[in-house]
Amino acid sequence: MSLAPLVVVSGPSGVGKSTVVAAALALNADIWLSVSATTRAPRTGEQEGREYSFVTGERFDELVATEGLLEWASYSGNRYGTPREPVEEHRRAGRPVLLEIEVQGARQVRAASPSALLVFLEPPSWEVLTGRLVGRGTESDESVARRLQAAREELAAADEFDEVLVNADVQECAAALVRLVADHRAPESQHPDEERSTPTNEA
Ligand code: 5GP
Repeated sequence: MSLAPLVVVSGPSGVGKSTVVAAALALNADIWLSVSATTRAPRTGEQEGREYSFVTGERFDELVATEGLLEWASYSGNRYGTPREPVEEHRRAGRPVLLEIEVQGARQVRAASPSALLVFLEPPSWEVLTGRLVGRGTESDESVARRLQAAREELAAADEFDEVLVNADVQECAAALVRLVADHRAPESQHPDEERSTPTNEA
């Protein structure tokens, strides 16, 4: 059975993943972006079901226990995960699926779904990354410090990815991402149950 491609976009917090992904969706309306579940509180302007599905810790535990998540990770004091069913449905319906997730989750997708394409977004420099993370003003000082620490570790993971895009220009980066999605074909032999394996998450 042939499935539409699964493409993961990852990279450190502050690199501009959401902005690049939004620009990519504007260029190609066929791509479906997964909405993650998170235990993080909504930021001002975020809407339930649009940026995230905001859930309690208990609900998140339930999703993990029932294998409802394709992957999940703890990040900067909160948990984030990709609901499995909608990803499978859209892929079966022929729509390429994009996941915008952090590095630990990308590794789980690689293990569970070897044909997924893993794309890493890099900042043009460390200074640009720190400037964006501090300048966007959405995080407390403590959260910025935690995210910068995580970013150092995440940047070192770039060579585990199939493709690396430098986010120097949002439109160019988005166009490059759309080309990668269009060019990526999941193998015909892929088994529909390929993604049934449980995430090996120890967090
Ligand atoms: P934020 O709190 O800034 O929205 O997200 C923090 C980090 O979690 C970002 O790197 C974001 O890409 C990542 N993230 C969002 N959703 C998921 C998910 O479903 N799984 C994983 N592993 N990471 C996610």
